[in-house]
Amino acid sequence: MKVIYTDSLVIGGGLAGLRVAIASTQRGYDTIVLSLMPAKRSHSAAAQGGMQASLGASIKGEGDNEEVHFEDTVKGSDWGCDQDVARMFVNTAPKAIRQLTAWGVPWSRVKKGDRQVVINGKKVTITEKKDCHGLITSRDFGGTKKWRTCFTSDGTGHTMLYAMDNKAIELGIQVHERKEAIALIHEDGVCSGAVVRDLVTGELIAYVAKATTIATGGYGRLYAVTTNAVISEGIGSAIALETGIATLGNMEAVQFHPTAIVPVGILTTEGCRGDGGLLLDKDGYRFMPDYEPDKKELASRDVVSRRMTEHMRKGKGVSSRYGDHLWLDITLLGEKHINKNLREVKEICEYFLGIDPVKDFIPVRPTQHYSMGGIRTKPTGESPTLKGLFSAGEGACWDMHGFNRLGGNSVAETVVAGMIVGEFVADHCAKTTLNINTKLIEKFVKREERKLVKLLNRDTGENPFKLKKEMQEIMMDKVGIFRNQADLEKAVEELKVLNQRAKNIAIRNRISSSNPELVEAIRVPKMIKLAQCVAYGAMLRTESRGAHAREDFPERNDRDWLKRTITSWPSEDMDLPEVSYEALDIMKMEMPPGSRGYGVDNTIHHPDTEKRVAQINEIKKANPDADRFEIQELLNPIDIPEKFKGKNERIGRGFK
Ligand SMILES: Cc1cc2nc3c(=O)[nH]c(=O)nc-3n(C[C@H](O)[C@H](O)[C@H](O)COP(=O)(O)OP(=O)(O)OC[C@H]3O[C@@H](n4cnc5c(N)ncnc54)[C@H](O)[C@@H]3O)c2cc1C
Repeated sequence: MKVIYTDSLVIGGGLAGLRVAIASTQRGYDTIVLSLMPAKRSHSAAAQGGMQASLGASIKGEGDNEEVHFEDTVKGSDWGCDQDVARMFVNTAPKAIRQLTAWGVPWSRVKKGDRQVVINGKKVTITEKKDCHGLITSRDFGGTKKWRTCFTSDGTGHTMLYAMDNKAIELGIQVHERKEAIALIHEDGVCSGAVVRDLVTGELIAYVAKATTIATGGYGRLYAVTTNAVISEGIGSAIALETGIATLGNMEAVQFHPTAIVPVGILTTEGCRGDGGLLLDKDGYRFMPDYEPDKKELASRDVVSRRMTEHMRKGKGVSSRYGDHLWLDITLLGEKHINKNLREVKEICEYFLGIDPVKDFIPVRPTQHYSMGGIRTKPTGESPTLKGLFSAGEGACWDMHGFNRLGGNSVAETVVAGMIVGEFVADHCAKTTLNINTKLIEKFVKREERKLVKLLNRDTGENPFKLKKEMQEIMMDKVGIFRNQADLEKAVEELKVLNQRAKNIAIRNRISSSNPELVEAIRVPKMIKLAQCVAYGAMLRTESRGAHAREDFPERNDRDWLKRTITSWPSEDMDLPEVSYEALDIMKMEMPPGSRGYGVDNTIHHPDTEKRVAQINEIKKANPDADRFEIQELLNPIDIPEKFKGKNERIGRGFK
C-alpha cells in the first residue's frame, strides 16, 4: 500500500485549489495538489468575462466601493447568501486582483480620453480620466450598479490560471496530475486525507494530511447540456457526501446562463451583453426591455434566462432542428471592438458555428452554467461537521452566492476564498499533529479496492454511459429553469431507480489501468447521488428564489424559506439523501431582505425584516458621525484573517 504524507492536501488544481495551496505553502506547510489533468487545463481557464473587484478606476466604476459590491452580491443572491462571507469577500477582492497583477495577470487597462461604448443599444462616448490612465479597467457585467468587472480581453480565466499556476511552480508546489480522489479517509468526525486512484496505472494511493481541501469545481455535467467542461462532474462534492458526515449546501441552486451557443452549449460571455450586445427574437425584435425595463439584457442571469424561456414559450423563438433558440446580436459593437475585446467569442463562433459575429447573429439559449451548491462550509472554509475537511471555489457552498451568483463573482470567489480559506487551512495545520493509525488508512484503501475488484469481475449489468445519459436527460427535462411539483416528483423517483441500477454496473474493458470505462463506472453512481440531492432539494423547496423557479410557488417566501438546504447521505443503504435546513438570521444581516430591483417582486416577508430595518436605522441615527467602516462594524463585525484586514486604496479617494 502506497501512502503519501503531507500537511495540506488540496484536491483540485483550478484557481481555488492552487490559491489555497499557495497560502499553505507560504506559511511553511508541505502541500500537495491533486488534479485530473495538468492544472493549467482546469476549468477556470474557460472563464472569459472577468473578475469583480471594486477598484473604481474606470469612469463607469467611479464611486464604487465594498458597500456597492456587497449590495449587488446580496441582491443577486436573492438574500440566500451568508452575508458574513459576502462581506469578507468584497473587502478582499480588490487585494486579490492587485496581488494577481503582481503575479503577472495582464489586465486590460484604462486609456485616457474619449472612447465609444454601446449602452442600451446606442453608441455613447465616455471620457476616461487622465489620472486613471494605465490603471486596471472594468466592464459592465453581472447586472452591477457600477462597472466593476476587471478583464483581460475575453480570456480572463486563462490569464489568471496561468499566473496562479506559475506562482505555484515558483513556490515549488507539487501538483500530482492524472490522479483522482475517489474517497475520503476519516474517523470520529476527523478527515485525514483521501484514497486516490492513479488514472494512468490504476494504482490506489492513500494521501494522508492534516488538512484536506476539496476544490474540485462545479457539477454542471449532471445536465445534458452545459457550458461546463467534461471534468465538471462534482466528484469532489460526492466523496464528501459519501463520508455520511460532511454535508452539501443548497444543491438545488443551479444557474442557467442565458447565452450558450446552440446546440453544443459553449458559452458566449456575458461580456457580449455587458459591452452592448442585444437579445433578439425570431422577428429581430429586442424583447428584454418589455420584460425588464430597468436592467434589460443586464438583469441577473436567472432573470434573463427565465425571460428568454418565457418568450420562446410564446412562440417567439427561432425554430431549428436542435429546438428553439434566440439571437445574440453583437454586430452593433463593430469589428474593431469584437476583434479586441471579444476575440474568443469570435473564434468560438467561427470554429463551432461557422459564422462571423461581426456580421451574423449568434444562436443562443439558456444552458446550465454554474453550481451555487456544494460542500457546506463555515466562513473559515471548514466543514461544520467533518473536522480537517475544507472546501473552496465552485465546489464549495461557502455561500456568498445564495441562489444566484453574479457574473464575475465566481473567479473572484475562487481567488478570494483561496486566500482566506488558505489562511484557515494553515492555522489548522499549525495546531494539528497528524495522529493516524495505518490500520485506518488500510481500511479505506481496501474498501475501495474491493469495490473495484467487484466492478471488474461482474459479467453482466448496467452500462455506466447509458445511466449517465438517462440521468442527464432527467435533470435537463425536469430539474431545469422552470420547475414544478409533478416533474420534480417524477425526477426524484426516476433518479432513485437509477441509483439502484447503478449498484449493478458492469463494464466490457476489464483492465484496471488507463480505462475510461472504469473511470465512468466509478463516477456515475456518485453523480447520480448528487443529482438526487439537487432534485430532492428542489422538490422540497416550495418557493422561488434566485435561480430556483417554481411555477407552482412563484413567490420568494422569506417567511418559511429563508434557509439553506443541507443534504447528507448517512448510510450507503439509503436511496435518498437526508435533508435538513440551516436558518438565516435576519437580525444579523447588514442588508435585510428587500427587492432585487429586477425581476418580479412578490416576496412573502419575514416578520424579522421590519424589526431589523428599524434596528439598523436606529444604529445609524445613534452614530451620526460614523463612517461606512464603523457602521459596518456596528452592524455585523466579521472575522477576517489579520493580513487581509487593511482598507483598500482607490484613485482619487485614498482609503475612504
Ligand atoms: C464557460 C465558462 C465561463 C465562465 N466565465 C466566468 C467569468 O467570466 N467570470 C467568473 O467570475 N466566472 C466565470 N465562470 C465560472 C468560473 O470559471 C468557475 O466557477 C471557476 O473557475 C471554478 O474554479 P475552481 O477552482 O472552483 O474549479 P475548476 O477550475 O473547475 O477546477 C477543478 C479542479 O479539480 C480537479 N478535480 C476535479 N475532480 C477531482 C478529483 N476527484 N480528484 C482530483 N482532482 C479533481 C480538476 O482536475 C481541476 O483541477 C465561467 C464558467 C464557465 C463554465
